[in-house]
Amino acid sequence: VIRCRAAVAWAVGKPLSVEEVEVAPPKAGEVRIKIVATGICRTDDHVLEGCFPNVDFPVIPGHEGAGIVESVGEGVTSVKLGDKVIPLCLPQCGECSFCLNPESYYCQKSHVSEPQNLMPDKTSRFTCKGKQIHHFLWVSTFAEYTVVPEYAVAKIDAAAPLDKVCLLGCGFPTGYGAAINTAKVKPGSTCAVFGLGGVGLSVVMGCKAAGAARIIAVDINKDKFAKARELGATDCISPRDFRKPIQEVLTDMTGHGVDYSFEVIGHADTMTAALASCNMNTGVCVIVGELASGSVISIDPMLLLSGRTWKGTLLGGYKMKDSIPKLVSSYLEKKFNSDLLITHTLPIAKVNEGFELLRAGK
Ligand code: NAD
Ligand code: ZN
Repeated sequence: VIRCRAAVAWAVGKPLSVEEVEVAPPKAGEVRIKIVATGICRTDDHVLEGCFPNVDFPVIPGHEGAGIVESVGEGVTSVKLGDKVIPLCLPQCGECSFCLNPESYYCQKSHVSEPQNLMPDKTSRFTCKGKQIHHFLWVSTFAEYTVVPEYAVAKIDAAAPLDKVCLLGCGFPTGYGAAINTAKVKPGSTCAVFGLGGVGLSVVMGCKAAGAARIIAVDINKDKFAKARELGATDCISPRDFRKPIQEVLTDMTGHGVDYSFEVIGHADTMTAALASCNMNTGVCVIVGELASGSVISIDPMLLLSGRTWKGTLLGGYKMKDSIPKLVSSYLEKKFNSDLLITHTLPIAKVNEGFELLRAGK
């Protein structure tokens, strides 16, 4: 058993509490990882707000991390002690019918199909003050050590800087893949990206890499525009600067609406606005933002009858165990610069400060 620090969420609506926790050794088929760095994703904040009824408290959140294998359980072959790794919040078991389908990326062994946020054997590897603490998405990267199933961890290049490539655990692939894999943005096309957090800016990067001619970035926080432009946005607009609904503004700007729109905020009204912003016949709208589980959106069905496609994506549509190591190699070959997404670097003791910066749009 390892004793180390972790940021524990004891109850909905409470700040995280940095505690000493015990991390049990990995069981058969599991890997214990020393987490070196982790990003903060808005999804972690949704957890603290209680948006996901399936997430039981107390829980150690965090799902965008990178680390080094500390030990492995019996039968583990794909990683070994000392390997640099990224824990996968969407696993890839390689055996289920979805993993065997080249068109699918959603592994059926995912924790999303497992309600309790415990390990696959329904137990936890974390305790604190005598209490069992739940895992989050199996990865719980807000702990200095974490335990994950072997099929939820990918070995990456030993040269990778862990404090940078941790973003390849969620935010970057989610946004980049939403453009490349889910929307399949074509060269010369026009895109609109609603929301310019870490994920939305990654969508901008993906649209640019796919050869989009025009990328319209939409956010109510204009402080995000400089970075969006640096990453490839050609136009930046705030819905608050217009009297008309933003979908009408985008239609006026483009003639017939954009070819691809992306909602990367997590609000029902911007999800429908993003749908209405794309070409009525050939447009594709991708939902990336998350609403609280059980939310309902109502739309005029005409929006879809006329031909639009409305899709969603988890983690950008990558088969993660195969794809994350390749993305890390592309990062090392400087095919994209996800370092530009890093705004602040803090020690774990200041994790709540990190959340305050996120909520303040910083
Ligand atoms: P973030 O909070 O950093 O960014 C959201 C941005 O939206 C902010 O810049 C904010 O100013 C802007 N915004 C808020 N309201 C707006 C409005 N009405 N109009 C225009 N802009 C508005 O969040 P993030 O970490 O980039 O995550 C974005 C969303 O993606 C979250 O909902 C998160 O849960 C979700 N997410 C989904 C996946 C997935 O697999 N689908 C993965 C990671 C994150
Ligand atoms: Zn995330």
